[in-house]
Amino acid sequence: MTNLNSKQWFNKAKNFIPGGVNSPVRAFNDVGGTPVYFKKAVGSVITTEDGNKLVDFCNSFGPMILGHAHPEIVEEIKKIAANGTSYGANHATEAEYAELLCNQIPEMDMIRFVNSGTEAVMTALRLSRGYTGKDKIIKFAGGFHGHPDSTLIKSGSSLLSSGQASSAGISKKVASDVFIANYNDINSVEQILNEHADEIASIIIEPLAGNMGLIKPNEGFLENIRVLADKHSVLLIFDEVINGFRVHAGTYGSLCGITPDITTFGKIIGGGLPIGAIGGKKAIMEYLAPIGPVYQSGTLCGNPLALSAGKKTIEILIDQSPYEKMEKLGKKIADEINQIAKEKELALHCPQIGSMFTPFFRKEPVNNLEDAKNCDHKKYARFFHYMLDNGFYMPPSGYEVSFLSAAHTDEQIDKFLSVLSSF
Ligand code: PMP
Repeated sequence: MTNLNSKQWFNKAKNFIPGGVNSPVRAFNDVGGTPVYFKKAVGSVITTEDGNKLVDFCNSFGPMILGHAHPEIVEEIKKIAANGTSYGANHATEAEYAELLCNQIPEMDMIRFVNSGTEAVMTALRLSRGYTGKDKIIKFAGGFHGHPDSTLIKSGSSLLSSGQASSAGISKKVASDVFIANYNDINSVEQILNEHADEIASIIIEPLAGNMGLIKPNEGFLENIRVLADKHSVLLIFDEVINGFRVHAGTYGSLCGITPDITTFGKIIGGGLPIGAIGGKKAIMEYLAPIGPVYQSGTLCGNPLALSAGKKTIEILIDQSPYEKMEKLGKKIADEINQIAKEKELALHCPQIGSMFTPFFRKEPVNNLEDAKNCDHKKYARFFHYMLDNGFYMPPSGYEVSFLSAAHTDEQIDKFLSVLSSF
């Protein structure tokens, strides 16, 4: 293959791919500079087309919890690929993996596999509409759920007004079916439900918000949403595309003891291959075709490669439980960043849970989208490039979470912190 550097590959790609990328954040619009081209990733280290070796804190935006090219997963993929990569028909791993996930997640009787988190969310929302016979949904400002039309809506001028599209191409009808509440603000949810519950099918939320940096739910927030959803006969959808299997070997919902009606998955459950899934109680899940009236299908749904890589990943996570180790490393990063910020009186702090953390360039806590917007994103961009120049690949946007994997080491964390202390 031609030997080009990142800049040359990007210039070539721009001729044939809109913006040179297949997903917008990869264009580095938030941090500036030339997007990095990867040619190899093993464990916690990626190698770029420029010959640099970088410690990876982006983690493909979350799926690679065991590190890149984990030997057992690579072996599994090779073995399965030799038997054919897609059947468009049923195979044993579907039933086995579905059973494993349902056993691991008490709130879930059944699961349906699709190809991406976006597809999972699209199906979950349709299922909630089909099940309740209502059309509208509530989502949260700054909550990201992939790119189904109805989730690409942000808040209008008033909380109680219907949403305004944050992408061109969303019909007014779809936008008007979406109400926007504020994360960590139960009153904003209650107000919408008080006025519109008879039109609302579901509330969709990332229980641990991961798309405006890492924001944890305030005490009682998720519990109160559950109570309100029940009171108003509205389904509760936990979007666990990032959260699922990230902080323990199950959902964030079950960790908190809160049972949603539908859960969506992606990322980790595919072991680094394309996947998504929708899970829930039997009575709701059986509303899906072919038993029920809510249609969903897919040529590659339940793909043998993705399911086998995912199943192997989950088995390793259950067997080896690297969560404690990742929590230790994550806490070390956050504690040290918070300490440095305090000593140097920097406008910086770092929330963390397990292997997720976000350096927010602002003194005050970040509880919602408005707070996240009020961080110094120019400073994040400088931080990103400083870390890149010093051997660390952070997510290329201050609104994305940084991830550790089981492959990261104490030495890498120490080096990261020492580089950071001179930023
Ligand atoms: N939900 C959440 C919470 C996500 O973070 C994402 C993607 N980052 C999605 C859904 C969409 O998943 P995918 O990119 O696999 O379509």
